[in-house]
Amino acid sequence: MSDRSTPDAPAIPHTPRLRREYRTIESMFRIWCADHHADRSAATGLCAECETLLAYAGQRLVKCPYGEDKPTCNHCPVHCYKRAQREQVREVMRYAGPRMPLHHPWQALLHVFDKLRRVEHPRTWRRRGRGQQ
Ligand code: SF4
Ligand SMILES: [Zn+2]
Repeated sequence: MSDRSTPDAPAIPHTPRLRREYRTIESMFRIWCADHHADRSAATGLCAECETLLAYAGQRLVKCPYGEDKPTCNHCPVHCYKRAQREQVREVMRYAGPRMPLHHPWQALLHVFDKLRRVEHPRTWRRRGRGQQ
């Protein structure tokens, strides 16, 4: 691990549910990065590439239109990620997801409950809102 400093402070959500989700994603990135990348920061446990991708995921969380009612991103009808980042994060999740119960059982359990959430597309909300006027 190097002492490379993080270039930008990551966007971390302030509300409890979103902050928990950020921490869960961060744990998954650490599992992935530890097994795939060498030049990791002592401060974050991540390489520069993973820090950048985690920061992107954090920004998406902060701007998520569902807020505290957020579903897991793979059950989301919006899919706000850019295609490249979405594929990269999927790869991380595919690898780290099955390893989470061993490393972070509590986060893994709560994530299972999060997967049960279902939401509508915001367009549907707007349409319904207009219909009620
Ligand atoms: S993909 Fe959907 S649930 Fe995930 S952050 Fe974007 S809008 Fe929110
Ligand atoms: Zn990495």
